[in-house]
Amino acid sequence: MIIIKNIPLARDSCAKAKLKNKTIGLVPTMGALHEGHLGLIRKARKVNDLVVVSIFVNPIQFGPKEDLKKYPRDLAKDAALCKNEGVDIIFYPQVKEMYPATFRTHITVEDFSLRLCGKFRPGHFKGVATVVAKLFNIVQPDNAYFGQKDAQQAVIIKKMADDLNMPVRIKVLPIVREKDGLAMSSRNVYLNRQQRQDAAVLFQSLNMARRQIKRGTKDCSKIIAAMKKMIETKKTTSIEYISIVNAKDLRPIVKIKGRCLIALAVWVGRTRLIDNIIVNG
Ligand code: AMP
Repeated sequence: MIIIKNIPLARDSCAKAKLKNKTIGLVPTMGALHEGHLGLIRKARKVNDLVVVSIFVNPIQFGPKEDLKKYPRDLAKDAALCKNEGVDIIFYPQVKEMYPATFRTHITVEDFSLRLCGKFRPGHFKGVATVVAKLFNIVQPDNAYFGQKDAQQAVIIKKMADDLNMPVRIKVLPIVREKDGLAMSSRNVYLNRQQRQDAAVLFQSLNMARRQIKRGTKDCSKIIAAMKKMIETKKTTSIEYISIVNAKDLRPIVKIKGRCLIALAVWVGRTRLIDNIIVNG
């Protein structure tokens, strides 16, 4: 395994593999790797000849008041995990390598970027789409792997790749969870003991919604109200949003019908957590 920090070298290594007809799998991450990331890496390893993991805490997807500075970083630990999974290349660029002072071009996936988390994190998905497009151009992957954990991100990246005719297949893998159901996240390390306990309510509320739907409840506002009530029993939580939308285009829906995404963002203490499930109505 090699760690490459500069763009021309990364591009060359990947281009050489392509010339030998090797398939390339890319797993874009911000590091602080956990089992959620490792699931994506394992899938990439199974299917591709060359596996590239990018580790880059992308500053342009963080808002001015967000946790860019304190976001957990541990390259040595991440590198050991990647090596253990048989990763070929870690692409680990510095910020000025990706965004020199002369940088001027961004990608906006309209509408989709304004829904759900986009309402509360203006510019976030523009930052995500831009960095992912750059990574695609540098690595030229055949397959790129994303987690359902960031459901809106996955939909937006698919839309971008489709709209801009990018020659890459976008693969979305299920959410990896802790024993109590909490979705694994690099940000879970911010939680204290009480908050960590309370955080399990997010998935519990999603499960309750699933049960209600199975029993025949169709009215989204009723489902959301019940979830809200359940989450609010935990003192450290503060709900940012709970939404039920069409899973494909993220448009809000009133009645459960077809493939629906139930998504939420909840503050637990000073940590913003997201989670979601897909239900079929
Ligand atoms: P991040 O490092 O948080 O930007 O995540 C990198 C990729 O890993 C994204 O595609 C995430 O959706 C995915 N990911 C993060 N946590 C999980 C999880 N618990 N289960 C599945 N995928 C995840």
